[in-house]
Amino acid sequence: MSYVTHLEAAIDGTHLPHNELQTLHEGRPLWVRYDLQAVDAAMTKGAVAGRAPTMWRYRELLPVEDESKIASLGEGMTPLLRCEQLGAALGLNDLWVKDESQLPTGSFKSRGLAMAISRANELGVERVAIPTCGNAGGAMAAYAARVGMEAFVFMPADTPIVNQLEAAYYGARAWLVDGLITDCAAVVREGTAEMGWFDVSTLKEPYRIEGKKTMGLELAEQFDWSLPDVILYPTGGGTGLIGMWKAFAELAEIGWLADARRPRMISCQSDGCAPISTAWEAGERFAEPFPDAATAASGLRVPAAVGDFMIIDAVNESGGQARACPERSLLSWARRGAALEGIAFAPEAGACLGVLELLVAEKAIHPDERVVIFNTGAAQKYVEVIGSEPLPRLPQSVDWGTLSSQRESADSGVRVGARETGWAPTAPGTPPAGVASAP
Ligand SMILES: *Cc1c(COP(=O)(O)O)cnc(C)c1O
Repeated sequence: MSYVTHLEAAIDGTHLPHNELQTLHEGRPLWVRYDLQAVDAAMTKGAVAGRAPTMWRYRELLPVEDESKIASLGEGMTPLLRCEQLGAALGLNDLWVKDESQLPTGSFKSRGLAMAISRANELGVERVAIPTCGNAGGAMAAYAARVGMEAFVFMPADTPIVNQLEAAYYGARAWLVDGLITDCAAVVREGTAEMGWFDVSTLKEPYRIEGKKTMGLELAEQFDWSLPDVILYPTGGGTGLIGMWKAFAELAEIGWLADARRPRMISCQSDGCAPISTAWEAGERFAEPFPDAATAASGLRVPAAVGDFMIIDAVNESGGQARACPERSLLSWARRGAALEGIAFAPEAGACLGVLELLVAEKAIHPDERVVIFNTGAAQKYVEVIGSEPLPRLPQSVDWGTLSSQRESADSGVRVGARETGWAPTAPGTPPAGVASAP
């Protein structure tokens, strides 16, 4: 059983039944609503603590009714890592990274797609399709395979190669499309009647938000049911930011949060594709499509988001901001973070670090505040952007004396550990020395 009562249109509050397939209402997304009083009566912190460390441990706050229909690869309960060295580099004393790179299929897309595919499975869907700019395609393909569903994936022709290969590897029928994710979305939309597939595009079905919501539930549990001061989230379609804000509201409603503190939600983009920050800075609730969207953070290359107003509402309710960092700072920050902490920062998380640098310089964040960044994907999936130069070849006769100095003087800087290069901590606005800038 589940505690879902109905679906609710985000744009006008219309109620819709949850026991049939639903997509958009008036072209806009749906919220999943629960009987939170019943959840409160049924669910205890002690019971949750004793369950397996996956996102399904919060099942009373999740929409699946029949557990035998769940598509799972063990996703959830990712590490929450304290980052003192990266914090020092940014001038922060209490910086944490929630490391979603360790999830199945190497990104947090596994949370949303595990939930969407589970619900679709429960409602009798046998064929699914998705437009993707990268990680969503592989995740959908994997979860569809897990429950024997047919999968179709459409991605821009310049999608990172690992994302192209993984979708096909998990058995999906995967296609390259000339254009952006919005063009891929049009293919899925136009093919629906003929192909009879269910469209699991970001926010076009109600359940991906519920999967991503578990990031907020885990974060709260990992901090012993209190929340940090600031959360930075790399925003494409915005599912994760919207989902976490919903999670915090639901936890507050059932009385599980230790205090009234809610984080300021910071939506982070690259200036190469910044529709949400552009709208927020102009005081708008709806975003204009961003022209010529281009960023190495492929997960952020979403020029038009159907949930734009939901992202901006959450940001504003939280007292947060929607910001963009310079594209050139995003990869250098991701690299610097990887070398400082050993975390496989994806370029998308580099956007959070770039925005964090701006906010610290503006004194919008106090050095002692508790700050959490989401590393939403695994660097290993971005071979084009992280591995642009081959390693130097060791000569036949090694001159040991030169090994460490060569490392320091390598001008590409790609493999140079940040500490060895001796860059000065906290130099807002200046690119870190010895670190290659983004293409
Ligand atoms: C999809 C994706 C994002 C953006 O996620 P949304 O919840 O759609 O905003 C960020 N990072 C990575 C690695 C992604 O794959």
